[in-house]
Amino acid sequence: MVVSACLLGVACNHRGGSSPSSRVTALGAGYRLLPVCPEVAGGLPTPRPAAEVTAGGRVRTADGTDVTDLYRRGAEQAVALAVAARATGAVLKARSPSCGCHQIYDGTHSRVLVDGDGVTAAALRAIGLPVCSEEDLEGSGVLPWTLPGA
Ligand code: SF4
Repeated sequence: MVVSACLLGVACNHRGGSSPSSRVTALGAGYRLLPVCPEVAGGLPTPRPAAEVTAGGRVRTADGTDVTDLYRRGAEQAVALAVAARATGAVLKARSPSCGCHQIYDGTHSRVLVDGDGVTAAALRAIGLPVCSEEDLEGSGVLPWTLPGA
């Protein structure tokens, strides 16, 4: 199971903090967890300027700097990890421009949410991986989908 590293307590978010989730940690009882921070894997520093996916699909910081290539490189790293490890799903940090699934901020840096996926969540979905956020977990260690053979 690919997991956003910040959900496991790694201080890798743009502020230099983490978002530990006991529900995500509990998944470790039943699944091998594979932590990845796509933004760090893509070459970005920690801390780093916040960025959002714009309507045109580019990723930009509030001052307009285009960081799309670094976000895409991080997504490629996450996909490579998922493929190499034969991951069966991914649990990713809600609303992140990389990891967010279902909803992300709209690119205006004004805290407005829109339907959509972050760059990495979209890339993992594209290879057929079931993807959810930590907020979708139905209880400690319980995924919102049934795995084949589970
Ligand atoms: S890119 Fe993903 S794993 Fe890294 S800090 Fe952001 S939400 Fe967490």
